[in-house]
Amino acid sequence: MTPVLVINSGSSSFKYQLLDMDTGRTLASGLVERIGEPIGVARHTVYATPAPAATGGVAGTPTFLDATRTRELPIPDHTAGFEVMLDAFASYGPSLTETPPVAVGHRVVHGGARFFEPTLITPLVEINIDELSVLAPLHNPANLAGIVAARTTFPDVPHVAVFDTAFHQTLAPAAYTYAIDTEVAAAHRIRRYGFHGTSHKFVSEAAAAFLARPLVELKQIVFHLGNGASVTAIDGGRSIDTSMGFTPLEGLVMGTRSGDIDPAVLFQLERRAGMSVDDLDDLLNKRSGLLGLAGSNDLRDIRAAIGRGEPRALLAFEVYVHRLRAYAGAYLAQLGGADVISFTAGVGENAPGVRAGALETLGFAGVEIDHERNESAERGIRVISTDASAVTVLVVPTDEELEIARQTLSVARP
Ligand code: ADP
Repeated sequence: MTPVLVINSGSSSFKYQLLDMDTGRTLASGLVERIGEPIGVARHTVYATPAPAATGGVAGTPTFLDATRTRELPIPDHTAGFEVMLDAFASYGPSLTETPPVAVGHRVVHGGARFFEPTLITPLVEINIDELSVLAPLHNPANLAGIVAARTTFPDVPHVAVFDTAFHQTLAPAAYTYAIDTEVAAAHRIRRYGFHGTSHKFVSEAAAAFLARPLVELKQIVFHLGNGASVTAIDGGRSIDTSMGFTPLEGLVMGTRSGDIDPAVLFQLERRAGMSVDDLDDLLNKRSGLLGLAGSNDLRDIRAAIGRGEPRALLAFEVYVHRLRAYAGAYLAQLGGADVISFTAGVGENAPGVRAGALETLGFAGVEIDHERNESAERGIRVISTDASAVTVLVVPTDEELEIARQTLSVARP
């Protein structure tokens, strides 16, 4: 067994997953949240017949050995949270003393222009991650808190940082440069970085493996549609364009984020509505997208509301799909056509109407959806285009933890 522990740390919570990299299976996962509040919550789940991921490259839906164990207790900081996690492993398994993790992988949101591959964490790397907090003030300090606590808890194993931005470091200057004064841009490191890279990489590689085609030969478009959403154009395994930019706010319509918007709207709201920069940040990041348009960030609610005949829900859906189609067309143009288009994450994997809407006008480009396949409730990686379609359209369940664990192991055991 080759256990790797994957940590995804937020400011007041962290998620963890223990995977056996001999099989790619998830052995246990958990969530420690409300860190620093009077009462924290810790959940731990052990898996019996877990995801057959490593061989085929794609995880299925794990089944539970038993119900998730939940504890409520004060958790003052991340280090205390890791102690609670260790207790859960000791009480419910699998035993970390019998089979300790060989490495710990950490999701880090922003690697700036500095980190373009998974990186062994040293004190110098920690300083760099901290310094990049200027670009990701909400995420990098929280990721770092997890790293510091995990290094205290597991001092003797290699820790590896896997960056959300790294996969997009292959973008050409034409794709990552904003058309603003270059001196201002350089002084403040304003450029497009792109996010969700771990998922885009995983899905594009899983698609190539599934189709038994060499990655380097494929032109791919990957739609990662979760609460956050982004789309990437991938040529021969390299990201050449992606919809998220300087921050994860740019691009597609998301659960609570606006995506693309004329920046002059912000000037107008500041001047005419008296909104501060913080108000505008809150508006565009937390009160826009599907939530702003239809009152819920969850596409299942939007679908139900459309069923009840609510016009604002229908408009929200149409705005969402209109934007997807615009990016599909743009990326077909950037790539010069595509071999594969994949959908992943909560919406991408579960909303056939969104997938069909995004691609329905692309018949001229050789995209033909098979509606029966698209509507099928089948799980796992699958084709939803017709056999005659020149472009293969896939649904590919993403597995960011498995990808982080793979990259972690590639650094820890080169
Ligand atoms: P996150 O970005 O938080 O990781 P996920 O990838 O889990 O998000 O996606 C969550 C979103 O997926 C939900 O907010 C919801 O809009 C959508 N979703 C989840 N399940 C379904 C479903 N069965 N049908 C339609 N949409 C779904």
